[in-house]
Amino acid sequence: MPVFDHPDFDQHESLHFVQDPNSGLKTIIAIHSTALGPAAGGCRRWQYASDADALTDALRLSRGMTYKNAVAGLKFGGGKSVILADENAPKSPELFHAFGRAVESLNGKYITAEDVGCSVDDMRQVNEVTGYVSGLPRSGGNAGGDPSPLTAMGVFLGIEAAVESRLGADSLKGVRVAVQGVGHVGLHLCRLLHEAGAILTVSDVNRDNLKLTQDELPVTEIAPPDLLYADVDVLAPCALGNILTSQTIPKLKATVVAGAANNQLATEADGARLADRDILYAPDYVINAGGIINVAREYYGGSSEEEVRTEIGGIPERLKRIFAEAKTSKQPTNVIADELARRIVASA
Ligand code: NAD
Repeated sequence: MPVFDHPDFDQHESLHFVQDPNSGLKTIIAIHSTALGPAAGGCRRWQYASDADALTDALRLSRGMTYKNAVAGLKFGGGKSVILADENAPKSPELFHAFGRAVESLNGKYITAEDVGCSVDDMRQVNEVTGYVSGLPRSGGNAGGDPSPLTAMGVFLGIEAAVESRLGADSLKGVRVAVQGVGHVGLHLCRLLHEAGAILTVSDVNRDNLKLTQDELPVTEIAPPDLLYADVDVLAPCALGNILTSQTIPKLKATVVAGAANNQLATEADGARLADRDILYAPDYVINAGGIINVAREYYGGSSEEEVRTEIGGIPERLKRIFAEAKTSKQPTNVIADELARRIVASA
């Protein structure tokens, strides 16, 4: 398994492979950059097909966090951790304590929080052994807690901005949106979209999550493999990454792609493929920054939930500037966003 020659190795500052035989923990913590501050990014617990897949995910996600934190104007660098889920190493306090010790050993170079497969409760256990964790329960209107509703808020505002830019519509009333994955972020997003009058099509591989959504909201279900190609205006990916590829893009019917999932593009060239089809792509790490804004405000302290919401209100303007520059320069939106992120990091 190549590391320094890995196609997704991008001058990462350090990579940490940690194993704890007692709890069964196997984790990779990837620190991409600390130029702007401690490397911050959530912990993903996932059943990977191979260790190589876990490494690829950690490398790509941590670089994405550098870009996300830079463009959001946060005093955070980029990092990410993955826990290799295994039926012999189920979730347990011991597992998250062992993970917390691994985070603690980095002396604040990496700050963790919840991501796919991890919850507020898991982070509370991590917090029993390290202070380098955010996304903990909040009290009295202070910033903090589960970042997912705030991520959904930013994505919702970003969808409004993208729909205005691409379809010229000043409201989501009657706009058809397909949401892939109705987990923590997807369900909150569906609530906001429904309130705004959007017509929802959803899919999820987890029947329980799907049922929760169906019980609460008027949604049309579509089988997971067909969701990407639904006849809708907006595709909102809120599951996992690598879904926009040379295979899938030619078959999309949506004219806007705007959702929460990290690393939606399989490769940088897929941004150009979307632009060639005149599909407006909201760069994932720009539109989904609401959660990390909440994490940052919680970590540095002294902020209210209201201040977090105000800061998230900046996401649509940021996207509109990227859309406008992409149009003027005839470049894909992901290229414009990446260049912006790299400029910010380089100037640190
Ligand atoms: P989650 O695990 O709560 O939800 C993901 C959902 O997607 C699950 O219900 C899962 O069953 C479903 N899913 C997985 N594969 C699918 C497929 N092929 N088709 C349909 N559904 C599928 O995770 P989440 O916290 O809601 O995060 C969703 C995405 O948003 C992830 O990519 C995550 O990295 C990203 N993100 C999350 C946050 C946050 O605040 N939670 C912040 C930024 C980015």
